[in-house]
Amino acid sequence: MSRYKVLLFYKYVNVEDPQGIVNEHLHWCLTNEIKGRVFFAREGVNGTVSGTLDNIKNYKTHLTSYFEFSDIWFKEDDADEHAFKKMHVRLKNEIVHGDLEDVSIEHSGKRLSPEALLKFYEQKKDFVIVDARNWYESKIGKFKNAIVPPMKNFREWKKVTEEDLKDYKDKTIVTYCTGGIRCEKASAYLVENEFKDVYQLDGGIFNFIKKYPDTYWEGGMFVFDERRVVNPNTKPELQHIASCYYCGKPTSYYINCHNVDCDKIIVSCHECKIENEYCCSDECRVSVKKRKIFHG
Ligand SMILES: [Zn+2]
Ligand SMILES: [Zn+2]
Repeated sequence: MSRYKVLLFYKYVNVEDPQGIVNEHLHWCLTNEIKGRVFFAREGVNGTVSGTLDNIKNYKTHLTSYFEFSDIWFKEDDADEHAFKKMHVRLKNEIVHGDLEDVSIEHSGKRLSPEALLKFYEQKKDFVIVDARNWYESKIGKFKNAIVPPMKNFREWKKVTEEDLKDYKDKTIVTYCTGGIRCEKASAYLVENEFKDVYQLDGGIFNFIKKYPDTYWEGGMFVFDERRVVNPNTKPELQHIASCYYCGKPTSYYINCHNVDCDKIIVSCHECKIENEYCCSDECRVSVKKRKIFHG
């Protein structure tokens, strides 16, 4: 039995006094042993937190006590321990930074349930599925046949739309991301740019793989916490799509090069990571800016 839970949640809603909530929320989380990252903005909330079963239960009661968030959808995962080292609560302009402030989520793509996406695949519907995440996330896991744009961060979505997706304006197009938040605006941006038939995967990859592991999701799901990756599949051929930078063995694990000046994200198996001292090159391994290693 796992003793901890990780929550993933967001909501686009008008927040009158986000700064006031930030201060109050941080205090509450510190008092109640909740760790993670929560962003508030005038446009809503975006967060992921971890805690013991009891503390998470209290957290949900607390957050939903605000009328703005009373109907928020918590996506939940089991964990053996905290998925974060600290608690951060911040005030932001956008709850996901994408330079898409002018895009209205009223124009968001139609919501596609996991059941409906499964049907799209099983009935071999003519559709295009697009990963709205960063390249390093899709490198270790993606939906079958997905288009994986070379996106460094979500601020490049406009460019992706104009360059990588321009030929699909008349197609049925499905966007997906981890929990759904990025697709609210990514899909709305497509709609506002005359894409004719746009869907967003409701609840993101997270929601799909809970219901249908071992189907059309291939590899691991990158998560922005200490776990780094969640592996939903049990079929060996669906477990890893990436391979170790050093030895080529299939794996879904990541490191950031421990030379602080480099910080490059590389896929590495456990053995090679230790052998190479968490560094991407010999040069980085002898750098004076190399971080100390506290864990194996
Ligand atoms: Zn290796
Ligand atoms: Zn490096």
